[in-house]
Amino acid sequence: MAEKKKDNLKDKLFYKPGNGYDHLTEAEEKKMNKYCEDYKDFLDHCKTERLCVNYCIELAEKKGFKEYKFGQEIKAGDKFYYNNRGKMIMLAVVGTDSLEKGINLTAAHTDAPRLDLKPNPLYEEAEIAYLKTHHYGGIRKYQWVARPLEIHGVVVLADGSEVAVNIGADEGDPQFIIEDLLPHLKKPSDERPLDKAVPSELLNVVVGSRPIGGSEESDRVKLGIMKLLNEKYGMVEEDFISAELEVVPAGKAQDIGLDRSLIAAYGHDDRVCAYAEMAGLFDAKKVKKTGVCIFADKEEIGSVGVTGMISEALEWFVGDMCKSQGVDIRDCFAHSFCVSADVTAAYDPNYSEVFEARNDSKINHGVAFCKYTGHGGKAGASDASAETVGKLRKLMNDNGVVWQMSQMGKNEQGGGGTVALDLANRNIETIDAGVPVLSMHAPFETVAKFDCYMTYKCMKTVFEKA
Ligand code: MN
Ligand code: MN
Repeated sequence: MAEKKKDNLKDKLFYKPGNGYDHLTEAEEKKMNKYCEDYKDFLDHCKTERLCVNYCIELAEKKGFKEYKFGQEIKAGDKFYYNNRGKMIMLAVVGTDSLEKGINLTAAHTDAPRLDLKPNPLYEEAEIAYLKTHHYGGIRKYQWVARPLEIHGVVVLADGSEVAVNIGADEGDPQFIIEDLLPHLKKPSDERPLDKAVPSELLNVVVGSRPIGGSEESDRVKLGIMKLLNEKYGMVEEDFISAELEVVPAGKAQDIGLDRSLIAAYGHDDRVCAYAEMAGLFDAKKVKKTGVCIFADKEEIGSVGVTGMISEALEWFVGDMCKSQGVDIRDCFAHSFCVSADVTAAYDPNYSEVFEARNDSKINHGVAFCKYTGHGGKAGASDASAETVGKLRKLMNDNGVVWQMSQMGKNEQGGGGTVALDLANRNIETIDAGVPVLSMHAPFETVAKFDCYMTYKCMKTVFEKA
């Protein structure tokens, strides 16, 4: 009997985060699996930030969202999207409360680490045609060689018209590759540390090998490639200069494991959070405070530029809605609440030496909140207050959302930043949250279906009740 009593006291007093499956009902698991099928479909349509914006508009319009017209009147129940230059998007559902009471914001980013083509990329060497690239965001460059690749983006032609380029995703499309050296030949880089093994300037994408024209001519393979590009897109070589062409891993999102509990895909960071926010906003009922999701571009390189989170695009959009209600945007922001959702590193037992098991997130333990990100002594973090964490904790517990706390590895081991501070800097109460990811920033990242679903439930709850 004494033994039993002690256990009860432990139950009462100890914090015991656990595996989400221990409390998942069959009905919930069905919903989870349906949600994850839709999410995988989203990923397959969204290999770049531009494709994300296009597909979000397509999905939003099906749900009754309309393009926001600046200067228009707004009323409760209205649903809008604001497309910022095709690379950043905001979605809003107007609530019954005045904007003076603040909005419920969820923010994520839809850019992902990749290889961008350089402005003058096409060349031929040893009768092989290549495209030179410049990596975007933090990648382990050795992971990008000897694997199939796709190219997506836009080209602005000399006459100012724009053509979309999408090669490698459709059935029957050719794909691309970056070579690696065979193990039989020792290369100088074998002696280099892993992060220097494949220098960025070696990430040259093979685009062809078939020469055209007479054997006495030079650059015949390059000419063959230019001819194909000209026939299909009307391009000449100079047009590469006004293009944004992104090289990304080929392949669709895949179930992983015999139990299919995981999903591997390119770009979970941070489309897994963006999708959760959008689906949460779509499904939110009885929205009192206006709900807004922001899918920012450029997070992986510091949230810079007109489509990054530091731009005033948010003020431009929310400020215009405020005008229609005669509200000062500063009053709106001061009373707003933001969940800045970005992925976090899941505890990986293969590399346990860099993790801090008590505080790092674990797969299948639910949506991961983070009081502070940053590195060293939390530099670059938006440190959420006890009150903010407390508010979210209560909200989740009251609404059956499985959550956990997270950080990223041992102190001084590394760290990372998110868009949270860009929102907090606007006098908006902000907290980080997101999905734990295994092999984050790899060409194929892995997440748990349970965590994806709980992140969606978290976002829906925020829009309905925060
Ligand atoms: Mn991210
Ligand atoms: Mn990232």
